[in-house]
Amino acid sequence: MRISKRLLKIVEMIDKNKVVFDVGSDHALLPCFLIMNDITDKVYAGEITEGPNKKSIENINRYDLDGKVIPVLSDGLQNASDDVEVVVIAGMGFHTIKHILDNCNIDKYEYFIVQSNNDVDKLRKYISDHNYTIIDENIVHDDFYYQIIKFSGKYHDNYDDISVKYGPILIERKDDVFIEYLEYYCKHLKQINKKANKDEYAKTIKEIEEILYN
Ligand code: SAM
Repeated sequence: MRISKRLLKIVEMIDKNKVVFDVGSDHALLPCFLIMNDITDKVYAGEITEGPNKKSIENINRYDLDGKVIPVLSDGLQNASDDVEVVVIAGMGFHTIKHILDNCNIDKYEYFIVQSNNDVDKLRKYISDHNYTIIDENIVHDDFYYQIIKFSGKYHDNYDDISVKYGPILIERKDDVFIEYLEYYCKHLKQINKKANKDEYAKTIKEIEEILYN
């Protein structure tokens, strides 16, 4: 079974032998992959609507994972059982992710792995405003640059603005994909400025260059 680079990176961020709840699982690809690769032996595939839930059930049957991947119809974590340790929320917009986080008890879970398709800075601001702790971050380039954040409900002081915008761990680690992303983003903003003959993004460009060259 093959999964995208994005989902594979999420898999790498999950510790072995954890009971995982994948919110908005769609085809249950991530849960099936986790079981088939011996990362854990129990994963819930959560879905809010019948259609994707049916697709999950089809894959569970197809890969013979009955009882190991468990489909759950649920808005976010509302119907999650008490044995869940790790939560994955991926492939959704920030607005939906916020709704899911607002309606669960963060402290019940060891950690969350969240990948928002947009407004990643707003997601980090949400984490910062709630004094949660960012444990790890990764960025992958698939058809797009995807940032993946692992956080827990453990107390952390508010993150500064630059950390919220670009990611505290991404900045500290400065791996090749992050550098590539910043260079791409910076070039893009410079092109917009040039076309519009304005300096609208000068502040952001300066911030990015400071991260890149310091
Ligand atoms: N998680 C997979 C991934 O990252 O590839 C699938 C993402 S798919 C684009 C988003 C899924 O989230 C849809 O199947 C949708 O039905 C589901 N979804 C949206 N809001 C949800 C909610 N509040 N609770 C559970 N699932 C939700």
